[in-house]
Amino acid sequence: MDSVPELLSFAAQVFEKHGGITERDDNHVMALLPPGLARSLDLPEEVQLGDGAVPLLYGSPVLDRLIQVATKKIPLIFGRIEVPYLKKGGFEQLIGQDIVFTNGQVRVTGRAEARTSYMVLICRYVALSDERKEGLVEVGTHEGTGAIIEDFESLWPEFRPEFYTLGKVPPHFSIHLEQTISNAMQKARVLAEEKLIDFIKSMQRRLHRDVKNTREYYEALRKEMEASLSHHNLSEAQRHERIAKIEDLPGEMARKIEDLKQKYKIQVRLRPCAALRFLVNVVQIMAGIRFRKHRRTVHLTWNPISRRLDPLVCERCYESTRSVHPREKDSRILLLCPSCAQKQ
Ligand SMILES: [Zn+2]
Repeated sequence: MDSVPELLSFAAQVFEKHGGITERDDNHVMALLPPGLARSLDLPEEVQLGDGAVPLLYGSPVLDRLIQVATKKIPLIFGRIEVPYLKKGGFEQLIGQDIVFTNGQVRVTGRAEARTSYMVLICRYVALSDERKEGLVEVGTHEGTGAIIEDFESLWPEFRPEFYTLGKVPPHFSIHLEQTISNAMQKARVLAEEKLIDFIKSMQRRLHRDVKNTREYYEALRKEMEASLSHHNLSEAQRHERIAKIEDLPGEMARKIEDLKQKYKIQVRLRPCAALRFLVNVVQIMAGIRFRKHRRTVHLTWNPISRRLDPLVCERCYESTRSVHPREKDSRILLLCPSCAQKQ
């Protein structure tokens, strides 16, 4: 069987990104792999993919391992969600409700049922300070666009997905996940910080308390030492020594306070630990946008899990947005989030 050219170039990218040397033509990839990479892919260090050698096909175990490597070896679970109902009409009303286009005219021009894929990325966060706090956060994303789908992570179990065994995964999943994972990680960081609010406040409270106690301690010490200067049995040398000590106190206190700040400093580490990937039947809606003298078609997705339109992704910063601001750039329409639209 012939290998899929797109997969061969994907394999070459993965090899090169991880230190391999590759040579490719239309039908095959030859590569020299570093030993560690060869081991994780279960391939020889000198390998030929495609063209009569190891074929590279959708669903093949080699491809699954390449995807694992490309997605930083996060364990992946694949499944399919069958939905009982796909919305048939009334999409016009959802524009202006689920997604708002400002200053542009939008008209629904068509609908089609389609299959797409969503990912739930599960991340572990660890906050290190004087104490340690850890937990998990989950983020749902649309794999094609990288849009963050609110509540997807809590809604999917209701639909009882069917899971695929490795090697039997159908070819409909996207192999380019960099943007999706990067968007999901950003969202996960925000969620982790929300979960850490009480922890952060408690560390700040303790720091504040310890700094206050330190200041009071040094203030009392200074007063006591100053009072002792009036003892008449002090020699001149002893007096000078005490005065020098008193003068050192502010510096010493500042160092103690700096130590406390280090002690209560909070470091948050976030690491993806698993991804669930689902094929889902959706309704794709074609919408025509008119902005000034320009026209453009945009594809919107009606998501049967959240039962609403998915947000779009800003074409400048890739943030998900339900408030879309058309702008003109190089005689075409660019769709931006509110903050990018404002900056322009
Ligand atoms: Zn933006």
